[in-house]
Amino acid sequence: MTIVREQVRELAEFQDPALSAVSFYFQPSTPRNKSHKEDAIRIKDLAREALRGVEARTERKEARESARTDIERVLRLSADLRSNGTHAKAVFACAAKNFLREYDLPPTLQGTELFVDRRFHLKPIAHLLGAFPRLGVVLVDRHRARIFDLRLGELSEREDLFHPLTRRGRSDGYAGYDGGHAERRVEDETRHHFKTVAAMLKEFLEKGVFEKWILGSVDELRSQLEAQLHPYVSQALLGHFSADVQHITRDEIRTHAEQIADAWQNKRRRDLMTLALSQARSHGRGVTGLRRVLRALEMGEVQTLLIGENFQSHAVECSHCGHLDAHVVNFCPVCGHPTHEIVDVGEAILPRVIRGDIETFYVKDDTDFDQVGNIVALLRFRVDNAESITSGAQNEMKAVADYRGRLRRFAS
Ligand SMILES: [Zn+2]
Repeated sequence: MTIVREQVRELAEFQDPALSAVSFYFQPSTPRNKSHKEDAIRIKDLAREALRGVEARTERKEARESARTDIERVLRLSADLRSNGTHAKAVFACAAKNFLREYDLPPTLQGTELFVDRRFHLKPIAHLLGAFPRLGVVLVDRHRARIFDLRLGELSEREDLFHPLTRRGRSDGYAGYDGGHAERRVEDETRHHFKTVAAMLKEFLEKGVFEKWILGSVDELRSQLEAQLHPYVSQALLGHFSADVQHITRDEIRTHAEQIADAWQNKRRRDLMTLALSQARSHGRGVTGLRRVLRALEMGEVQTLLIGENFQSHAVECSHCGHLDAHVVNFCPVCGHPTHEIVDVGEAILPRVIRGDIETFYVKDDTDFDQVGNIVALLRFRVDNAESITSGAQNEMKAVADYRGRLRRFAS
């Protein structure tokens, strides 16, 4: 099962003050003869280390037993992981609260890790999901449209449409073009088909099924389809690749789409970084440094967060109100209750980031970024108009429903 944002939100909400929330991430080694054995040894070491930590830190007996149960579960699981080298895996468990979730992840984690804490450790998930939009991949030719979701490296087909007129060879409504006008009729049908596809894409975007999309088609059809797109749908298009709908494989679709998405994401990260830094310099809608970013997060002002990939900083969290403070103080400056120290503030802010649906980019070595403390936030405002959804589109929605009524699902 692949994780989706709603499930990440559930994980972010989970708390166990008694320190028995176990998070396990498994990243398979690159295939080598010894790899399975190495993976198993690594997991055993991690489990031993985690158990030592539990003995030292976890005070309540039930919480210690809960953590031990879950660590043993991870050890048992590691035997099955050997046969499944294509996926990474995440397990979130708290036996004391009867909580257990397992997810498959793309095998691009930084490593195999095991944590026991008051919250689940979500940084590897945030790395994967952070700024990745809900992405549609659309393949079209003259008669067919295949629409896929691309989530965390998994491609799943949502729609496979075939133009009904062509399929049945019927000519109702097109009688005038019959006999010697076949070519014109094909053009007409293609346009009609593309209109239908364009309407469906608009509906998907408006309903949030996709936030962005990528087009695959033979090059000569591309401009014909693009001519039918609503401006709002055009703006959400990240790029195009050349594809023959009949023959392209799933792996080819995924590879093309991921290349386009990665290039778009890299550019977006650079643009937002430049914008946030210049806004921060002019005291506009940007802030830099942990103290100011924490404050902006608590005020609910942050739209986009840029954070160093290996950002590490100490902070404290209030046990009562959840306030995070970059100054290591014993009592909460907001409510006066005792605080506890946090070793990794980049992890501690994630529940808030996930709840607020804040677009998050992790930044690799960058000297400009280093100088501003490896953490920068762009405060709330619209970055581009593509993000704003036009209202009053009810008539168009009805037209979409009508179009869809005329579509026939292609029996594959
Ligand atoms: Zn407090």
